[in-house]
Amino acid sequence: MKFIPEHYQIEDHTKQPFINDDELWSILNNTISTHERVLEIIDKSLSKKRLSLTETAVLINAQDAASVEAIKAGARQLKKNVYGNRIVLFAPLYVGNRCINNCLYCGFRSSNKEAERITLTDNEVIQEVEALEEQGQKRLILVYGEHPQYDAKFIAHTVDVVYGVKKNHGAIRRVNINAAPLDIEGFKIVKAAGIGTYQIFQETYNHTAYQQYHKGGKKMDYDYRLTALDRAQEAGIDDVGIGALFGLYDWRFELLGLVRHTNHLEACFQVGPHTISFPRIQNFSEEKLSNQYRVSDDDFLKLIAILRLAVPYTGLILTARESERIRNEAIQYGVSQIDGGTKLELGTYSQNEPTNDQNLHREQFQINDNRSLSEIIEGLIEQEFLPSFCTACYRQGRTGEHFMEFSIPGFIKRYCTPNAILTLSEYLCDYATPQVAEKGWALINKELAAFDNDDMRQQTADKVALIKQGQRDIYF
Ligand code: SF4
Ligand code: SF4
Repeated sequence: MKFIPEHYQIEDHTKQPFINDDELWSILNNTISTHERVLEIIDKSLSKKRLSLTETAVLINAQDAASVEAIKAGARQLKKNVYGNRIVLFAPLYVGNRCINNCLYCGFRSSNKEAERITLTDNEVIQEVEALEEQGQKRLILVYGEHPQYDAKFIAHTVDVVYGVKKNHGAIRRVNINAAPLDIEGFKIVKAAGIGTYQIFQETYNHTAYQQYHKGGKKMDYDYRLTALDRAQEAGIDDVGIGALFGLYDWRFELLGLVRHTNHLEACFQVGPHTISFPRIQNFSEEKLSNQYRVSDDDFLKLIAILRLAVPYTGLILTARESERIRNEAIQYGVSQIDGGTKLELGTYSQNEPTNDQNLHREQFQINDNRSLSEIIEGLIEQEFLPSFCTACYRQGRTGEHFMEFSIPGFIKRYCTPNAILTLSEYLCDYATPQVAEKGWALINKELAAFDNDDMRQQTADKVALIKQGQRDIYF
């Protein structure tokens, strides 16, 4: 029997549009929030149940300081109880910025004649990946504009190129994709290349706003984009990522849109999105956008905490668009993946140069956390988060990993924490500065001492010893 989300009385069908603006606004406008109700809903989430749209709206509409604090405390507790303290690290690699679309908020829009259009050659991709491997990266997301040149075969080819690069101890073990919607055949081609997650952001779920911001190209078709991940699922890609660009429209509506999208995927495919992203526009004047829907820091942190509670088993990604301060706070509320050492200018990982004015014409947007991967790792260790490059489930064929880690008792202790320790050990042996290595080994020893299962502690310690002797890529 298909699951029909509360307050959505028509059945979900695959590849059929499912966002009804009036319905989402009606839920937001007609849901009353009381402190008592907020606490009940947080309890439900802590018992590992996903929230309905109405319950999410109760949290969104909570304004009083005590309720907002309770939401943040609930998210913190959920994160701690359910996810442990690992943070997965990745880096974006922009492959090409040619684009037929004209999204008003993007530096790569077709009307931006100042943008330097670049598509990395195979050799350039190899150089970039070698540079990323030399930092210690193991997980990449490849990013492409929407252009006939970047068809499914091109994407699959670049994935092959990336997986083939092995510099010293380096290897990219998981390649995710952020690219234009494909048809089912196209998604099959990309899947066959061995990708991890295919990520497509709706940008804004509001139909009117969507039309205002998308003024050219195939992206003008809201429904084709909205149903893209249904086609990906039908092609066998069951790891999909959704997202909204906060600042284009009312954040409360976008948040409900993300939850509605999650419901839809669950209803149709019995699996929700692997990850949710929620980038926030920071530089409205530069992009010549109205700042009517600017999201304040307080609202942004509140919405992250609500999302954590609303979809407790979905990975949350926060990128270097946000400052170090916001990222440090947001990871307390349940962000599970962040990028590190990010460079958005095409082709510059291998140049080792700071951003300059010339390079600004190669960027999609600006970043606000310019720390190197090493600095990010050091910062996480100092906060006692375990930096992780783990890709074990994907490679062991444990699919639906985000659901398993959440729903299988002991999964985090059995797999995620030991694997985080192993991938951090590799990093410390191969890439860390003496200072980071010292802090990292101290954290690993502390984590091992905290294991409640002696056998698991011994097995993990034995594997760490093998890594110190030179073995690589060992995992549970
Ligand atoms: Fe092209 Fe994507 Fe930028 Fe839109 S957001 S202009 S599709 S690169
Ligand atoms: Fe993710 Fe699986 Fe690794 Fe846990 S063990 S971090 S769920 S890949």
